[in-house]
Amino acid sequence: MSERVPYSTDDAGIPAPSDGFSQSVGPNGPLLLQDHFLIQKMAHFNRERVPERVVHAKGGGAFGEMEITEDVSQYTKADLFQKGKKTPLLLRFSTVAGELGSADSARDPRGFALKFYTEQGNYDLVGNNTPIFFIRDPSKFSDFIHSQKRRADNQLRDNNMQWDFWTLNPESAHQVSFLMTDRGTPRTWRHQHGFGSHTFLWYNANGEKFWVKYHFKTEQGIENLTAGEAKALEAEDPDVHRRDLWNSIKNGDFPSWTVNIQVMPFEDAADYRFNPFDLTKVWPHEDYPEITIGRFTLNRNPENYFAEIEQAAFEPSNLVPGIAMSPDKMLQGRLFSYPDTHRYRIGANYLQLPVNRPKSPVNSYNRDGAMAFYNGGDPVYAPNTAGGPVADPELFKGEGYHVAGEMVRSAYQLHKEDDDFGQPRALWEKVLSDSERANMVDNIVGHASAPEVTDDMKKRVVEYWTNVHPDLGGGVAKGLGVQS
Ligand code: NDP
Repeated sequence: MSERVPYSTDDAGIPAPSDGFSQSVGPNGPLLLQDHFLIQKMAHFNRERVPERVVHAKGGGAFGEMEITEDVSQYTKADLFQKGKKTPLLLRFSTVAGELGSADSARDPRGFALKFYTEQGNYDLVGNNTPIFFIRDPSKFSDFIHSQKRRADNQLRDNNMQWDFWTLNPESAHQVSFLMTDRGTPRTWRHQHGFGSHTFLWYNANGEKFWVKYHFKTEQGIENLTAGEAKALEAEDPDVHRRDLWNSIKNGDFPSWTVNIQVMPFEDAADYRFNPFDLTKVWPHEDYPEITIGRFTLNRNPENYFAEIEQAAFEPSNLVPGIAMSPDKMLQGRLFSYPDTHRYRIGANYLQLPVNRPKSPVNSYNRDGAMAFYNGGDPVYAPNTAGGPVADPELFKGEGYHVAGEMVRSAYQLHKEDDDFGQPRALWEKVLSDSERANMVDNIVGHASAPEVTDDMKKRVVEYWTNVHPDLGGGVAKGLGVQS
């Protein structure tokens, strides 16, 4: 006789009386309120969803491992970046603006959120597939996202409002340039780079400090969709990227990325030619070359998407000893907003869920709250004479630096070559090939040709791109039929 499969149960582990019949008064009679199995099933179903992320709602992810192959202990003492160290990780990819069911192939930046389960707690690097962002001050973030999402009246997305925001905020030009190249529609999540985007502070065992940027270079090679291919896939397979990642890992074709850094000596920041903390800027490689220090591979799919990916909570504030924040204003804003959204979306104890829970010991004095199941015992306060855990400030020697100034509301102080158009111009002039330039023009023209984009807005679009480069502006003007 073959062995029986396990009994189905309710959520309390009690064997289920039936998988298909509710309890009724006779076969044709009404159902009974006492049917706890039915009530639990229906009530739980009503509660299956948590609010979707306001941004980066649609995504997918997988687990893997990073290995560090070079000695960078002169820059950081962070445990996970020591030579030979292997650290388990989770990587979640996403689009930004679309809702949970939206198409993977839409033109959008892609989220590239890493959680490293280090021996000194979780280290999260919540980046994108671009090294830069649309804005440099978090006070603009909700306005920016509103402009990319839906109108209040008809709940439709609206390219006119997207261009309205972008053209009124010229610091967006660099990121919008990336977005309008074919890298705005990657072929898969595997065929794109990832970037930490922000500048971070690294400090070594002697407390010496360095500014650092992260670049994760795809070992699959860059591959993009043309605008036509991306549009077609939106209808043919809205889950194309989720499917691709899942299948490649299932088939043992594990995607990998090299881990590269740019390192700037701490003292260089003050009079570097660009503001090194401005998220709309890169550090040109001729100034700070990329150094490869390791690689990571994704090798395991989640078993339960909701538990392990939908409830995965990444937060740039998860920084381990040896790594600290920089004065990048966008990073400073995100230090607050990410944990805040997790508390709202998942609950006060989101860090106790298995996917978010560190693999190193948690000796926190935080207690209780909804769904607490991992809270530790006594003592419940610090300091104490009961032998409870004690902080070690020595671990953070090096994270601080001198700051002084008036309280102001202003843009960053300008550095010699700071402007909004110089770096996108460098992308156009020295990086893009002729065919990439032609596609960029076509992609912009296609986007700004949507019926809702007004004639006045088209003129502003041409002006915006002319500021990046006259040839680019000229191409866009021609495509939109605007006199330039
Ligand atoms: P470099 O020529 O040294 O670097 C150019 C970078 O652009 C390389 O990292 C290259 O790496 C990447 N790149 C190549 N093709 C494209 C493309 N179609 N779209 C986006 N990126 C591409 O020049 P600089 O460091 O002086 O930078 C010049 C401009 O290049 C910058 O203003 C910025 O727009 C762009 N860029 C710079 C990066 C940096 O960190 N310095 C990173 C990415 C882009 P790869 O082909 O492997 O992606």
